Amino acid sequence: MSSSETQTVAPPETRQGIGVSPGTAYGPVVQVSPPVRPPRNEPAVDDQDAALSDIRAAFEAVAVSLEQRATLVDDTAQQILKATALMARDKGLVKASAKELAAGHGRATSIDLAIETFAAKFDALGGYFAERVADLRDVGSRAVAAVLGVPAPGVPAFTEPSVIVAEDLAPAETATLDRSRVIGIITEAGGRTSHTAILAAQMGIPAVVQLVGATSIPVGTAVALDGDSGEVTIAPDMELVSQQRERAARRSEALSHLSGAGATSDGHAVALLANIGGVEDAVSAGALDLEGVGLFRTEFVFLSATTAPTVQEQTEIYRGVFAPFGGRRVVVRTLDAGADKPLKFADLGPEENPALGRRGLRLSAEQPDLLDAQLEALGIAARETGADVRVMAPMVATAEEAAWFARRVRDNGLPKAGVMIEVPGAALRSRHVLEEVDFGSLGTNDLAQYTMAADRMQGALSDLLDPWQPAVLDVVAAACEGAAAVDRPIGVCGESAGDPLLALVLVGLGVSSLSMAPSKVPVVRLALSLHSVAECQTLAAAARAARTAGDALTAVRDAARSELTTLL
Ligand code: PEP
Ligand code: MG
Repeated sequence: MSSSETQTVAPPETRQGIGVSPGTAYGPVVQVSPPVRPPRNEPAVDDQDAALSDIRAAFEAVAVSLEQRATLVDDTAQQILKATALMARDKGLVKASAKELAAGHGRATSIDLAIETFAAKFDALGGYFAERVADLRDVGSRAVAAVLGVPAPGVPAFTEPSVIVAEDLAPAETATLDRSRVIGIITEAGGRTSHTAILAAQMGIPAVVQLVGATSIPVGTAVALDGDSGEVTIAPDMELVSQQRERAARRSEALSHLSGAGATSDGHAVALLANIGGVEDAVSAGALDLEGVGLFRTEFVFLSATTAPTVQEQTEIYRGVFAPFGGRRVVVRTLDAGADKPLKFADLGPEENPALGRRGLRLSAEQPDLLDAQLEALGIAARETGADVRVMAPMVATAEEAAWFARRVRDNGLPKAGVMIEVPGAALRSRHVLEEVDFGSLGTNDLAQYTMAADRMQGALSDLLDPWQPAVLDVVAAACEGAAAVDRPIGVCGESAGDPLLALVLVGLGVSSLSMAPSKVPVVRLALSLHSVAECQTLAAAARAARTAGDALTAVRDAARSELTTLL
């Protein structure tokens, strides 16, 4: 597409979505091609064996193309693509397609029906499996395209810097976007803590999710998006674009004056840390002005592994993650397997409610050898690199679990043990839970999910999952009070830490570190530098006094310093 094709349709229209990755963008829309469907009334095949080998070849071609894309992307993305390629190679899909061929369906229809059989099973299993239905259908649609000899669904080829628009993007699609040409992402579905949102922020691409009618925006229409406010203007006039550009310039100017450790205006330290998912993330974050890592999601490294990684394999990866940070802290979370992040080698079988099941530390308790191997590797890598490594457990619910974990960490020569506080029960009793360990880290993504009883993968429940929900803030406040009572530091590593206004509230509630996608660090640093601890406490009180999430945000936005709010 060339710039001459950029259409401008009047009048400009501004719609409100949810900003999930900061920054602004202005450019033409590229719509992601919808899935390829089999032709209606596709005739039965004459030669079933030949048709089956075509289907086998189609699935193999999909796997190979996903693997090829995997070589072009960073390690988090690689894991996602490899996991999807593995799905395409599942013999069960070919077998199920053979059944449909035998029942008298054509090639493409057989693939589609086979995929839908599996999709129904995955849906019925719920949790992680249900969440992979999108990936499964993506594999199916690609195989249908391959067997029909038509272009694959997904992001079409384009040359001009563009804004990618889709109903939703599979993590694999987000992870493999060409960063030099994709200037923004807009989705009609998706949620604040979906993988796509997390990856977009990690890639530094401005993004807005939950934008009503996004997929109906004509290809080539110019849009202006603001990944902070969540506003998208369709066919904006140049005045709005220049206002947005001017605001972006003011923002980067304002941000450029600040560097170094995070602190409030009265000098109260708040560590600014990165969330990472592997060695490449570590190398890029290590080069940035931040104080270390507040969350290394180790399960991201092993998403496509079929067997448990050895101590030696793990040691090598951890060395690669620790080295870029020198003496800075690296908080490693032990495998958070299960629910939305299943690992083939740490699978206890299907569960009706995996998000409430044997996941995170519960799974480690059932497979302690896995945990011990990981802790051993972390211990070796920490000693070899001299890094300040702190290890924490996911999904801790009780003081006994915290004590059990801390003992195992210390037995492996690792000096600091912590726990994620992401279960409301642990938050309410943080005093007893944190007494057993050295620190706590609030996982507000899951804490919101469990406090509001709303599946975090359901974009349609975004309002309930909003971390500004006063109930979530109350639970965070309780966790902070418990931490203070036993004199343990508590931080936040959920997506809420990267929201500059919410960061102020969190500091007001008592957190001492904020860990986020590195692209969000500068604006959070600025927000802190403009407010004293007492002001943060006032903002926190205002947010908690509000009746709704929207009122909480408005109260804080109105009371925060205009030097910050005019940049947002
Ligand atoms: C969280 O739940 O807030 C968190 C940081 O962990 P994850 O998003 O990996 O579940
Ligand atoms: Mg979590």
